[in-house]
Amino acid sequence: MTKLTDLTILEALEGLNAKTFSAVDLTDAHISAMEKGKNLNAFITETPDIARKQAKESDARRAAGNAGALDGIPLAIKDLFCTKGVRTTAASRMLDTFVPTYESTVTQKLFGAGSVMLGKVNLDEFAMGSSGTTSYYPAAINPWSGPEPWNAARKLVPGGSSSGSSTSVAAHIAMGATGTDTGGSIRQPASVTGIVGIKPTYGRCSRWGIIAFASSLDQAGSMARTVGDAAVMLRTMAGYDEKDSTSVNTPVPDYLASLGKSVKGLKVGLPKEYRIDGMNPEVDALWQKSAAMLRDAGAEVVEISLPHTKYALPVYYIIAPAEASSNLARYDGVRFGLRIPGKDLNDMYASTRFAGFGKEVRRRILIGTYVLSAGYYDAYYRKAQRVRRLIRNDFLEAFKKCDVILTPASPGTAFGIGEKTDDPLAMYLEDVFTVTLNLAGLPGICLPVGLAQNGLPMGMQLIGRAFDEETLFTAASALEKAAAFTHKPPFTA
Ligand code: GLN
Repeated sequence: MTKLTDLTILEALEGLNAKTFSAVDLTDAHISAMEKGKNLNAFITETPDIARKQAKESDARRAAGNAGALDGIPLAIKDLFCTKGVRTTAASRMLDTFVPTYESTVTQKLFGAGSVMLGKVNLDEFAMGSSGTTSYYPAAINPWSGPEPWNAARKLVPGGSSSGSSTSVAAHIAMGATGTDTGGSIRQPASVTGIVGIKPTYGRCSRWGIIAFASSLDQAGSMARTVGDAAVMLRTMAGYDEKDSTSVNTPVPDYLASLGKSVKGLKVGLPKEYRIDGMNPEVDALWQKSAAMLRDAGAEVVEISLPHTKYALPVYYIIAPAEASSNLARYDGVRFGLRIPGKDLNDMYASTRFAGFGKEVRRRILIGTYVLSAGYYDAYYRKAQRVRRLIRNDFLEAFKKCDVILTPASPGTAFGIGEKTDDPLAMYLEDVFTVTLNLAGLPGICLPVGLAQNGLPMGMQLIGRAFDEETLFTAASALEKAAAFTHKPPFTA
């Protein structure tokens, strides 16, 4: 029999329903995997006791004939989702001891559907980064780094900010994970670890109880090893929530019904502006190959133009820090989180924020405060908002000519831990293919398509119309089938 940790979520649900194994068996296998994969630093907080308890309850529900959509499935939860009674850190010293008194809507929905929590996983501090290395805790290691001991080999990043999510799923420690994506944090980690990640349309999932980074860009999404698994998770996570005024009250379709449908006649757009200077030739070749696979499956490939693409990164790095500086103002040492005493109130604020936030978070707060300050607001923030609208209009125009857009997901394969850390611009370039759709509020999915010559996975991104995740899943499942990516990292638990 296949190892329980090698099953997909959909296979596991079948096995559970057929009583081939129990939720307790499945959970125990993943708890052992968590133990075996400890050195990957995927988890900030492991919760095996909660997992065992949830698994037992799941078996009881199934025996009573009222199992939920994800009953008994062990998941990893990004440590940006508040979990009631379980420490939630945002990978920041500021929240090192923070225990929420409430549950985020997305995790509530997942647990309500019966899923099991293995623990809270690592990320870049407050989700700011593309490598996982801005975490206050030891950085997660990409299981594609090679066999243990990783300290002797070259350690690779698992992407960011959802670094623990990508690591735990790629290493077969969790069957799926939650992620959040403000500028690419689900899709870029998925790309460099060879898994699937979807950021749905802004407003699809409730942001309630997710620690805020940039509120007009943040979205939750699912990360798993197959398109089908990402679909079944998202179906549960999505939906209107009166506690989030930006969540949208439209029905959530059954995404599983979109899988395996024909792509005959589907128009796939390739944006000419995405062929950026100095593009990695292997990424370019795989992009063209992916387009050919979709064409062979019956789709029509058309060239499209997104003329304002070159402004996307500069606009993102004004808007995201601006919103972050405002959201992070609440960490003042008074109400919750870290407090470093000072000689007066101002000194306490300054000492607390200096000690509590890492370098990258402080850099964002400084940039954000600057672009929002009197005199600069119009020159930077307001102008960025205007260009953001132009970027969105580009997509609206493009979707008159095509149904989905195909692009690379990240500019290269996984890089070494510590690389790019001292060069914020090189790090920010990691998001060049992903930030545009956060600015436009559109859904995007990344899936593994091939290996580079260095043996590391490369992913492709499909972008869809607002609230049309269904077409994305259809196109992604066609590409998944054609690409037949079955490679596993050298380390799996
Ligand atoms: N890497 C981007 C940033 O640092 C995106 C992060 C994210 O999507 N949370 O802002």
